[in-house]
Amino acid sequence: MSVRVRFAPSPTGALHIGGVRTALYNYLFARQHGGTFILRIEDTDQNRYVPGAEAYIVEALKWVGLLPDEGVGFGGELGPYRQSERKPVYHQYAHELVAKGKAYFAFDTPEALEAARQAEENFTYNAHTRHLLSNSLSLPAETVQQRLAAGDPYVIRLRVEPGQDVHIQDLIRGAVVFQSSELDDKVLLKTDGMPTYHLANIVDDHLMGITHVIRGEEWLPSTAHHVLLYQAFGWTDTMPQFAHLPLILKPVGNGKLSKRDGAKFGIPVFPLAWAGETAEDSFPGFREAGFLPAATLNFLALLGWHPGGDQEIFSLDELIQAFSLEHISKGGARFDYEKAKWFNQRYIQTMDPAALAAAIQPLAAAKGYQADTAFLSQVVQLMKERVTVLPDFVEQGYYLFEAIKLYDDEMIAKKWSAGLQPAFEALIGAVENAPVFEAAPLEEQVKQFIQDQGLKPGEVLPLLRLALAGTMKGPAVFEMAAVLGRAESTRRLREGMDYFNRCIAANA
Ligand code: GLU
Repeated sequence: MSVRVRFAPSPTGALHIGGVRTALYNYLFARQHGGTFILRIEDTDQNRYVPGAEAYIVEALKWVGLLPDEGVGFGGELGPYRQSERKPVYHQYAHELVAKGKAYFAFDTPEALEAARQAEENFTYNAHTRHLLSNSLSLPAETVQQRLAAGDPYVIRLRVEPGQDVHIQDLIRGAVVFQSSELDDKVLLKTDGMPTYHLANIVDDHLMGITHVIRGEEWLPSTAHHVLLYQAFGWTDTMPQFAHLPLILKPVGNGKLSKRDGAKFGIPVFPLAWAGETAEDSFPGFREAGFLPAATLNFLALLGWHPGGDQEIFSLDELIQAFSLEHISKGGARFDYEKAKWFNQRYIQTMDPAALAAAIQPLAAAKGYQADTAFLSQVVQLMKERVTVLPDFVEQGYYLFEAIKLYDDEMIAKKWSAGLQPAFEALIGAVENAPVFEAAPLEEQVKQFIQDQGLKPGEVLPLLRLALAGTMKGPAVFEMAAVLGRAESTRRLREGMDYFNRCIAANA
């Protein structure tokens, strides 16, 4: 039987980065087995529906390149893949369970349920309490028929029989057992005719031929009800196998990573930026922070999975090859943003310069820099060993695109003295008239000049760097000069020298 897995997010807001990891593991598992990866939108909870969230999910998957084979916006034979469009299906299956005696109608008003909760601490709607409430198991058959005919609002509840062990053989966690006596008679179909998560999830997994359910650990408790539902429908033979993924933990301290950690630690915890209605509900994204999709995936892949060995850099193809559910950890995986940056740095360093230039083009344009691809390619070659995220190219390296805004005065005061002026002037002349304006010959020429003048490289090279970039932190100085070009470099050296003089005069 061929593998079919689904990513089934609910569009209740921006998709958390952990959701992207869930999608990735499903994708890797499908690809490795030559199977099918499905995107199903679980939007049956109208109260929690957030406009734009579905589009966000699709955009996030597209950004990282986890394209579904079937699903909302991706075609497929077994749709619709948006649960709100499948209402009649759930209606039919819920009623089928009632007909089989595995589920029942319940007419309890919200007030009646509230009263029951008041009367009994930890009230649960189950085999012990259901006879005290208004449902088709407690009321005479004619009353039930009358109330249905009269159009009384009802829900359909799963009839959970006590005293059963519910076994799950989780592919990550091993054997897990729940006691049915501890499970409530879950609502399957609501008064508005919409299914609950439980019913819709199981019916769709069945109808869509899902073979493996790979999802977050927080869904493990629901799985007990899901197994009971498979039994109630008589679908146990085709019940998918379950794999519950470990939590993603906060960067420090206990507990799972939450959207509030983003603001707390000043880091993105969402794939893409999200503009909510309020500032608290708006979040930065990995994409906007300047992460490459491949680096983001590599980082997420290793958040709870590792095949053993030392390898950390995995291309998507390598991940597909190496992935296995057995190597997913049971324990939580700490969200280490520094590690995410480390991956990004590594991916930037090995990325094709033309592709990298294309990636920073919009960032340069947003800053109003007029820079063509040829120039951007030079910039990325020059800077790529020292940046972490894409905006670093245009922020740390702003002086490659515009005039120096800030000089390191302290360093200038240390390095510059009026006595150096004649030599520096001669140096500017030599640079201006360099026979070949390329990094290597320029370096050779300048170093020779320094020697001829009886100076030391440490006396002159920092000044060159300060004049060209304003800071000591820039890239290799002669490569930088080559990128700036003969005219601009010469101009900066002249301007720099004037600035040095003003700087020490001000300090005197
Ligand atoms: N709709 C659930 C979610 O938002 C799906 C859980 C599952 O994969 O079964 O994550």
